[in-house]
Amino acid sequence: MKTPLYKYYDQLIKKLGPQNWWPAETDFEVIIGAVLTQNTNWKNVEKAIGNLKKYNLLDPLKLLQIDSETLGELIKPSGYFNIKSKRLKNFLRWFNENYSLDIDKLKSQPLDNLREEILSISGIGKETADSILLYALSKLTFVVDAYTYRILTRHELVPYEIDYDGLKNEIESELPKDLKIYNEFHALLVNVGKNFCKKSEALCDKCPLNKFLEGKSPAI
Ligand code: SF4
Repeated sequence: MKTPLYKYYDQLIKKLGPQNWWPAETDFEVIIGAVLTQNTNWKNVEKAIGNLKKYNLLDPLKLLQIDSETLGELIKPSGYFNIKSKRLKNFLRWFNENYSLDIDKLKSQPLDNLREEILSISGIGKETADSILLYALSKLTFVVDAYTYRILTRHELVPYEIDYDGLKNEIESELPKDLKIYNEFHALLVNVGKNFCKKSEALCDKCPLNKFLEGKSPAI
């Protein structure tokens, strides 16, 4: 018997199809994108990553070696560039000191240790850490965000006061332990949050999750 959230996943994959995240050519590019996407839209991240590619800098050692100001200039399109430049540098220094900039060494670590370590890097929050772990390092950890919270609270599946880890644990307890499902379900919820379940309006009539509302009227 499928859990409620597994049924949501089934419905979304059927109606919206695979989202094929993360849009990147390498695992390292996923990590850079996960840091840059904080508080901005993906188009701006693409421009910043495009600049790094243009100068052939999408490489851990090269990014570690360039100075923060130059890095900040290159990633300017992603916004908050001084802060993000520092965050990238913090990540790269940790990556170099602990894993010799070797992504396979990172991947070989157990999830719990690695999550704790990544969360100890200044400026890296839970959503960014879980995005890196799931999409770059193929670790079985679910990524939650404001879209996830909005959809699940509007469907009265979780309480309003739930925090990041509570929401993540709730979803993980309802899904099969399957990387592909974790990968797609987060991306599908982002799709729903952007296109149907918006902050200021809920386009329930057009939304693929409408059938699960069962007479509830979502609070906006
Ligand atoms: S059915 Fe309505 S409340 Fe539910 S996710 Fe879609 S837009 Fe949001």
